[in-house]
Amino acid sequence: MIGFRHRLLSKWGEGMSERTVVTCVYCGHEYPEGTPAAKHELLTAHIKVCEKHPIRKAEKNIEKLRSALAGLINVETPEDLDRLESILRVTHAPESDKIAALNAIDALRTTAA
Ligand SMILES: [Zn+2]
Repeated sequence: MIGFRHRLLSKWGEGMSERTVVTCVYCGHEYPEGTPAAKHELLTAHIKVCEKHPIRKAEKNIEKLRSALAGLINVETPEDLDRLESILRVTHAPESDKIAALNAIDALRTTAA
């Protein structure tokens, strides 16, 4: 996973006693009282589901690129990628074409969910 930092804001809550509430800077989600503002598993867990975190856009773009690439080489499943790679390695074709196809296979494997 790409190491995006989830920036956090602190604010004073309302009520009799002052308290610091840690909120998500992207969507305003409030973490339970006492959640540290950094390096806490609750923060990490929220980043994974926060709809407004910038990484959601990156994930959508990756999926779009994956889909376009899979459409270009007409292969998507891991088994089909293995099969295509085996065929490519013994096929007589221009080296540059083979390298481009092998790079596409590698990119699809690397970005598989
Ligand atoms: Zn959020």
